[in-house]
Amino acid sequence: MSLYSQTLTELAVGLENGEFSSVELTQALLDRIAVHNDKLNAFITVTAEQALATAARADAARSAGNAGVLNGLPILHKDIFCTRGVKTSCGSKMLDNFVSPYDATVVERLADAGAVVLGKTNMDEFAMGSSCETSYYGPVRNPWNLECSPGGSSGGSSAAVAARLAPAATGTDTGGSIRQPAALTGTVGLKPTYGRVSRYGMVAFASSLDQAGVITRSAEDAARMLGVMAGFDERDSTSIDTPVPDYVASLGDSISGLRVGVVRQHFDEGLDEQCGARVKDAIAVLESLGATTVEVDLPNLDLSVPTYYVVAPAECSSNLSRFDGVRFGYRAEGAVDLLDLYCRSRGEGFGDEVKRRIMTGTYVLSAGYYDAYYLKAQQVRQLISDDFKKAFADVDVIAGPTAPTPAFKLGEKVDDPITMYLNDIYTIGANLAGLPGISVPCGFVNDLPVGLHLVGTHFGEETLLRCAHQYQLQTDWHLACPQGFV
Ligand code: GLN
Repeated sequence: MSLYSQTLTELAVGLENGEFSSVELTQALLDRIAVHNDKLNAFITVTAEQALATAARADAARSAGNAGVLNGLPILHKDIFCTRGVKTSCGSKMLDNFVSPYDATVVERLADAGAVVLGKTNMDEFAMGSSCETSYYGPVRNPWNLECSPGGSSGGSSAAVAARLAPAATGTDTGGSIRQPAALTGTVGLKPTYGRVSRYGMVAFASSLDQAGVITRSAEDAARMLGVMAGFDERDSTSIDTPVPDYVASLGDSISGLRVGVVRQHFDEGLDEQCGARVKDAIAVLESLGATTVEVDLPNLDLSVPTYYVVAPAECSSNLSRFDGVRFGYRAEGAVDLLDLYCRSRGEGFGDEVKRRIMTGTYVLSAGYYDAYYLKAQQVRQLISDDFKKAFADVDVIAGPTAPTPAFKLGEKVDDPITMYLNDIYTIGANLAGLPGISVPCGFVNDLPVGLHLVGTHFGEETLLRCAHQYQLQTDWHLACPQGFV
């Protein structure tokens, strides 16, 4: 089997057995990126030289008997993670000239485990979007259909993994930005529990919702990656100090007896009928493995999108106030005074969607509107969390669709923010409640992939990964490769 078509787990075995070196593997993938990336625009930066140097060090470490758990395995980072000495743009003109002086914790941990970074992936500007069309670097295309979006905001990561340009990529998920692009590209996307993976060095969008995670082709690969990325970090005040289980070790355990919640509201209007059918088939597979289904209620589900679009913009307006043209990032020329410098730098450095969010956020936080919008949204957020708590009294995981439709055409929703925002209706709840979620490929509609979404209890990643892995042992949707990238 060609190197690029192998999963992270398979490549780990090949390296271990000396079938190929990390330098050979890295070069093969860099060659593939050179051939295919023009079609996809999945990368903002390709770090070829650094990657080959890291690969050579990984090979030497292996020969010396010091191989880390991801030794010599190629990965990608979403361009939201700070990488020392390499541009970290966050998909924005504002940070087009920003070279981070330090590594994010996620970057550091993966590097310490021996991973080789091939490059930084394209994304919606400051992770605001569901289609990868708000990037300053142009839209990313879906390898399954180049006229379609790969989802967003981690769409560069999802497109690259789906096109076999790398076996794994990091992503971030504030409202669905790992899981939705995974669904739209036929990849696996894992958003861990809030606080499971450090946010240190991850450019902040909405701090109470942001969580780092991973996009891979199999649940097993996601388990390997998470094991390295997860864990307490004193540099992130919301990081939680609880032991990291061996996620790979429990993948083989049966899911017989697992209680799977099926949400009544998930299959109401708004969901593409055929997508719904694929998801129901997937749930039937879980049942055939001994899981039992239980109908559950999330009565406030329809409030999750409006709640999110108060909370997330509020937090983003505060987080993005640091981009003022003074300390780092874009600085406009010809300003006449300080206020003019702020206005011009921000006016020229940010794109439309980011400005829309900053304005909404500033509005909902302003005196006179705070109680009516922000405080109210926080109260509704609590109700949504309570709904999940009630549901999880009876079930171990909740299963449903990841996105309401398969991949949509580029340009189709970009001028209609409300329709775009509704793409995250099934994923946002998990962010509001801080719960882990995973999207797993579960079939096709019109030759485009569909995702099964599983949500777990806090720190229930082991159960999610096991359930996803057991499903993948029975199905081969995750093995399908987009035509043109075979
Ligand atoms: N699509 C959502 C938004 O635009 C979620 C983004 C994300 O998870 N980063 O905010």
